[in-house]
Amino acid sequence: MRALVKAAPAPGLEMREVPEPAPGPGEVQIRVLRAGLCGTDLHLHDWDDWAASVVSTPMTIGHEFFGEVTEVGRDVTSVQPGQRVSGEGHIVCGMCRNCRAGRRQLCIHTIGVGVNRDGAFADYVVIPATNVWVQPHDLDPDLGAVFDPLGNATHTALSFPLAGEDVLVTGAGPIGVMATAVARHVGARFVVVSDLSAFRLDLARKAGADLVLDPTRTSLREAMDELGMREGFDIGLEMSGAPAAVTSMIATMNHGGRIAMLGLPGEPYPIDWAKVITHMLTVKGIYGREMYDTWYAMSAMLQTSAALRDAVRSVITHRFAASDYELAFAAVRSGECGKVILDWSEEAR
Ligand code: NAD
Ligand code: ZN
Repeated sequence: MRALVKAAPAPGLEMREVPEPAPGPGEVQIRVLRAGLCGTDLHLHDWDDWAASVVSTPMTIGHEFFGEVTEVGRDVTSVQPGQRVSGEGHIVCGMCRNCRAGRRQLCIHTIGVGVNRDGAFADYVVIPATNVWVQPHDLDPDLGAVFDPLGNATHTALSFPLAGEDVLVTGAGPIGVMATAVARHVGARFVVVSDLSAFRLDLARKAGADLVLDPTRTSLREAMDELGMREGFDIGLEMSGAPAAVTSMIATMNHGGRIAMLGLPGEPYPIDWAKVITHMLTVKGIYGREMYDTWYAMSAMLQTSAALRDAVRSVITHRFAASDYELAFAAVRSGECGKVILDWSEEAR
């Protein structure tokens, strides 16, 4: 089968023929139809210090995917061949304190599909049956491929009650735009989104933001004035990883405001802790998705809301045949994109 492989501990990727992976006991083999590119894949492609510290080569990368079950291993009863599925890319140990308490997203031994074991940029991927999310048979494959980042967005947006609240989203990458759509769906009052890219601010506006701004041109205070907000944001969803965005978010939160932090900074950076303390802010770190409450929540919301489905679909701006993966990586690097999808189906060969 074809697989996009990090072949050696150096920059670059190789499309190779490799043996089809067979499902072991408790595992499921999936024919990949679509796979999404994520920032993680760029780090792996470029082989930065983080990538070098976590990956052993050769490794097939990719963790956002949708496909069809082709074979199940021994003892698998929850999934059948022919079902259409997405996959949770974090595989947990099942035995640490948090796993045994049912808080699997907090597992101390999490390993990543496409990072620590072979991933989904391939014709076939194998994951544990417990990580399979069975989808409705008629689900749009593109939509099925974004459940992983939609799960990041949903988990972050649902961290705190949003009904009637004023929400600030910093960063309009694919996840920030999807979080904007979720915040709108669950009844926020104003949703304000910041980003440095006009293209991405436009995606956020289309996904339901009331006001979008480039912080190098317009301040959050000016945005608040325009909306008639007197006190500050109730909820912050940090989706950029940019220290400047975090600083301005902390400065414009209402007292008692709550911040969910998803964006990953490249380096440690200073925080105005006196403001966090005296403004009595709550700051919550977010990693991955809740297993599997987030999956239930996003499936349920998509099932009944055509507006949310359209908003999430609008985040997908590019689709390339898997063989054109270099074009796909270039599109992600350009920044003039939302979610970029690789088509691994027979039709796209
Ligand atoms: P992305 O890199 O595509 O989007 C980040 C956006 O932030 C970009 O559009 C960028 O222009 C914008 N930005 C940069 N500086 C800014 C500033 N000062 N103010 C406002 N916006 C600014 O990323 P994505 O795929 O949408 O993911 C969002 C973030 O979440 C990234 O940092 C990513 O690494 C991280 N992430 C975290 C998890 C997790 O589980 N915690 C999972 C996936 C991604
Ligand atoms: Zn565990």
